[in-house]
Amino acid sequence: MVSGVTLPVETDPGGTAPADPTPRVVVPELRAVFADRSMRFRQLARGRNDADYLVFLSTLAAAQHAVAGEGGSTLDHASGGDPPLDVTSLLRHVDWHVDLDRLLTRLRPDATGNLLAVVEAMDVASRTELDVLAVAMLEGAPAPVAAQLAWMPIVAAALQVTWTRAASKLDPARLRCATTATQCPACGYAPVASVVQTGGERTGRRYLQCALCACEWYLVRVSCSTCGATDGVSYLKLEAEGEGEQGYPTVRAEICDACRSYLKVIDRSRDGFAEAHADDLASLALDVLVGEHGYQRSGPNLLFAPGTTDD
Ligand SMILES: [Zn+2]
Ligand SMILES: [Zn+2]
Repeated sequence: MVSGVTLPVETDPGGTAPADPTPRVVVPELRAVFADRSMRFRQLARGRNDADYLVFLSTLAAAQHAVAGEGGSTLDHASGGDPPLDVTSLLRHVDWHVDLDRLLTRLRPDATGNLLAVVEAMDVASRTELDVLAVAMLEGAPAPVAAQLAWMPIVAAALQVTWTRAASKLDPARLRCATTATQCPACGYAPVASVVQTGGERTGRRYLQCALCACEWYLVRVSCSTCGATDGVSYLKLEAEGEGEQGYPTVRAEICDACRSYLKVIDRSRDGFAEAHADDLASLALDVLVGEHGYQRSGPNLLFAPGTTDD
């Protein structure tokens, strides 16, 4: 579909640290985060070869939105840790399975074919089995059982609901950014992408967004989120190959020659509906392109399961 490379070293209009009151950390708004994501997946699906995949993710995000409002979890009462929702230490002690059960209940009525088989298998899976899978997924390891690969996006969706709901209740003023930008100040997990924001004092500022809890934290533009380098940072993007085709100007890969890593930048000033998870999965061709240049992606998209799309 699209290919091409540009390697401009950009100047950064927001390159210096912002004066207060630009917030350093922003917690997710529970009534918006999954609803916006669902809408964006559906919007992006139009006219694409992988429309079925994106529509499924829209349905999954809509189910997350409904479940997020259904009730709480024990994570909502976590206290004292640093970071407060530390996923590494809390995962096995939190009842995220309740949110998983709620998600499966919502997915089941309309599920057919492979999805129905997945829902039915997950319904009877043991907690231990699901915990082992969740740990592997968060660590970026393969599924312990190959057939469970297709479970991963649904396990991820449940964990996101549990962690995002709890993060939405935190006081952002009490969250401290870690010494490296690769760790979410709320849960310690990695960013899915960064987003150039619009709206109020955040306009034009770049924030990393947590792949798990959707918390956002500020990072100066044109700097590597992995190693902090500012020299040797450049950008790759998808460009239209032929007439009538469109590139994907909303999404660029920020690549770093110092540590050979990259993470995408989703630019909401180019499209106000752009959303980190959805636009990331709609631009997988960019990951392929950047991979061919020898750069390693630094943060995961937990909704992605390899082999589930035609891309
Ligand atoms: Zn987080
Ligand atoms: Zn770097």
